[in-house]
Amino acid sequence: MTITAPTPSADTLRGLCEVHLPGDPGYDAARTPWNLAVDQRPAAVAVPRTVEEVTAVVRAAAGAGLRVAPQSTGHGAGPLSDVSLSDVVIVRLSELTGVTVDASAGTARVVGGTVWQDVVEAAATHGMTALHGSAPDVAVAGYTLSGGLSFYGRQHGVAANSVRAVEVVTADGSVTRADATTNPDLFWAIRGGGGNFGVVVAIELDLLPYADVYAGMLLWDRERSPEVAHAWATWTHDVPESVTTSMRIMSFPPLPDLPPFLSGRDLIVIDGALLEDDDRATELLAPLRALAPEMDTFGRMPAARLTDVHMDPPAPAPAVSDHSVLGELTEETIEALLGQVGPGTQSGLLFAELRHLGGAFSRPSPTGGALSHVPGAYAYLGAAMAPFPEAAAAGQAAATAVARALAPWSQASRVPTFTDLRVETGSMFDGEAWARLSHLRDAADPGRLFVANHQL
Ligand SMILES: Cc1cc2nc3c(=O)[nH]c(=O)nc-3n(C[C@H](O)[C@H](O)[C@H](O)COP(=O)(O)OP(=O)(O)OC[C@H]3O[C@@H](n4cnc5c(N)ncnc54)[C@H](O)[C@@H]3O)c2cc1C
Repeated sequence: MTITAPTPSADTLRGLCEVHLPGDPGYDAARTPWNLAVDQRPAAVAVPRTVEEVTAVVRAAAGAGLRVAPQSTGHGAGPLSDVSLSDVVIVRLSELTGVTVDASAGTARVVGGTVWQDVVEAAATHGMTALHGSAPDVAVAGYTLSGGLSFYGRQHGVAANSVRAVEVVTADGSVTRADATTNPDLFWAIRGGGGNFGVVVAIELDLLPYADVYAGMLLWDRERSPEVAHAWATWTHDVPESVTTSMRIMSFPPLPDLPPFLSGRDLIVIDGALLEDDDRATELLAPLRALAPEMDTFGRMPAARLTDVHMDPPAPAPAVSDHSVLGELTEETIEALLGQVGPGTQSGLLFAELRHLGGAFSRPSPTGGALSHVPGAYAYLGAAMAPFPEAAAAGQAAATAVARALAPWSQASRVPTFTDLRVETGSMFDGEAWARLSHLRDAADPGRLFVANHQL
């Protein structure tokens, strides 16, 4: 349902903080998520600047019979496309930000909707980094509380395991701290259950002791993709856990804003990080470099620059995608992928990516939360630009066609941060964790005040 005027209940939020209601001049800008393909039309958007404003909004929304959707950037807004938000207040955390590093403890305290680049730059001043993802402008909260797959992840596991404590505005409007000894059930549940349990106003997380890393990308024309994709698959079967990479077949439209090596080109790109010294990293990369890439940016770089390597869009963009988890990667799997996006095809996808999982990604952590590992050996993610509805439909069909072609090697599980569709949320957790999570959600928020992208 499209609402064009404030509802009486949403009107009660006015004055509590910066609030935009339907019909207000700022409503359209405030409701727009990072993923511009998602047309969110909530009852209100609240933009708190303090924790007190968050609590006031949560209490007022509950009192007025409205629901609350925490959102930091809207990178993960895709699953909300199919949900009516006509009785929902989006609490946008983009103005409640900040990072404090405790260098001696090796931790950072990250406020509300802070994005990863702010954290890695603050950590870098102390010679450290964190389990961030590929993009600088993804928020710590949505990424980390949904697992979080980093290019350090095969060695260090999912980012959710790096969380030491959270501060959350819960359904009763109070600010609750949760850590291993205080509110341990909430601490367990929110590391996977994320926005289903409240508005997270701070996260304390462990940093990593890396000032610089060996990272970069190798790039070839797509014509080389049969040879390169098979070589990458074989290579990943043997590399140590210190190596986390992705392989993408990419197609860029001819755009003046793109550098010439991307504009109008079909490519195959391998990128990621090797937590090794230069000699060992060079030795490990040798089989891929032997394929004579057109571009090779791998080398030692400040850890804070790892967020440049994957070439994620520098600004909000309209995108649709599909995803699956592969249990194995055989020669036939690669052939199936090439049949969809290899030389001579025109899938319409911006990219079809395989992210190497396994290693510490696959190992449940005894001290972890509801999502302490992701099963599977590789994650497929296919995405298309979706500037208008017909493009969205075609792009979605193309991303799903690749997932179908990979189905013989896929498992039922899904990685939450790679899932932009509304799917059965239970598929993101193992059975025991799912049962406990559902029980804790019923106890913490029986009235379903909170609306997360992956709803429990
Ligand atoms: C360009 C791009 C690159 C990416 N790279 C990676 C990657 O390398 N690895 C990876 O694992 N994922 C990656 N992702 C996926 C990304 O991690 C998810 O989309 C994630 O949900 C984004 O978090 P966000 O807070 O920025 O987004 P949002 O859309 O704001 O949040 C997503 C959900 O998280 C919850 N949430 C967000 N903030 C809060 C809060 N303060 N309190 C409570 N709940 C909250 C809500 O339930 C919300 O619906 C990428 C996505 C994009 C678009």
